[in-house]
Amino acid sequence: MKLELDGVSKRYGTATALDSVSLSVDEGEFFTLVGPSGCGKTTTLRCIAGFESPSDGDVRFDGESMTGVPPEARGVGVVFQNYALFPHMTVGENVAYGLRFADPPGDVSRDERVTELLELVDLTGFEDRDPDSLSGGQQQRVALARALAPGPDLLLLDEPMSALDARLRERLRRQVKRIQSELGVTTVYVTHDQSEALAVSDRVAVLNRGRVEQVGTPREVYHRPATRFVAEFVGENNVFDGVVRRSLTGRRASLVEVGESRPETEGFAVGIDERSSSAHQTKSGDVDGQTFVLDGIDAAGGDSLTFCIRPEDLRLDATENRVRGTIVDTEFQGSTTRIRLDWQGTELAVVVADDGAETFDVGSELEVGFDPSAAHVVE
Ligand code: ATP
Repeated sequence: MKLELDGVSKRYGTATALDSVSLSVDEGEFFTLVGPSGCGKTTTLRCIAGFESPSDGDVRFDGESMTGVPPEARGVGVVFQNYALFPHMTVGENVAYGLRFADPPGDVSRDERVTELLELVDLTGFEDRDPDSLSGGQQQRVALARALAPGPDLLLLDEPMSALDARLRERLRRQVKRIQSELGVTTVYVTHDQSEALAVSDRVAVLNRGRVEQVGTPREVYHRPATRFVAEFVGENNVFDGVVRRSLTGRRASLVEVGESRPETEGFAVGIDERSSSAHQTKSGDVDGQTFVLDGIDAAGGDSLTFCIRPEDLRLDATENRVRGTIVDTEFQGSTTRIRLDWQGTELAVVVADDGAETFDVGSELEVGFDPSAAHVVE
């Protein structure tokens, strides 16, 4: 089923929970709404399910408006954060409860359908167990089986893993992903956990304050964040503001000069000139300025510009755009070490490969650089 939200807004009194949200989710897609607490994820899901009516805009299933269609008539399966299994019913009865508004799909009995679903969620033989006797992950799989029992066209998952510990979350999300792709059911998944969103989704929508900041594949939102918010919310990032000095089209070199408006604003002056990019490196170490070379920057002299560099793109062996800072702290993570570097009062996040040969001591100096093409400009 194809799902569309067309300019959906939701207001509670004077507060705006959703501000003209437009999204399109393809048939069979695993689509995730991700964003910080209060950004409107649950409200979006409730509008799709029919538990809330939009103040403005329309929700459409396969092109058909859902306005006025009650939740039970929408053919949607929902799994919430708290499993909400009925404690006085067995596991089998809980799953069968999913069939209260609908007959099982295909030519099977209710009991056969329950058996089928429990097999799907790896809980074969659990029919007669009490929900209380199950682990959190198992309970959540029962809730999933219940939601899938009537064969919904659309599956809505609202933070289904948030009550589980990290290891279990990872296992369950792999199971959910497998089941979803096996069934090919269009799925909208809500999480505040950006790493979870990147791990499971075909595409994600990043929400902020009731608005969509960006929709894209996990790789797109990670590598090409559209806005500063996305750059900082999805993974760690080093974000810099600047002003373009000069622009030169058709040339590789762009010049980012740091420090012009420091220290008040951490402003960066960005410029492009005709010298070779490496020539700019001579500016490195200026009193309170730093010159960076960026590739492929589409900007004219005088433009304000914000760009970001991922921590893993600040490399020890990069030959260009080098900066020297003081190590503030380090976190050993096995194959990598995460370093916070104080660079002229700005904190930089750096992730370096760690083969054990080098030590990174707090208080010592470290020089890192980045490739001119590693910089990404955001709105
Ligand atoms: P979380 O991750 O914390 O669950 P969320 O992204 O799901 O957050 P929503 O629950 O959709 O956010 O809430 C969006 C905004 O709308 C919040 O500011 C919230 O306080 C507000 N809101 C939600 N429901 C209501 C309501 N029934 N009455 C008033 N305000 C509401």
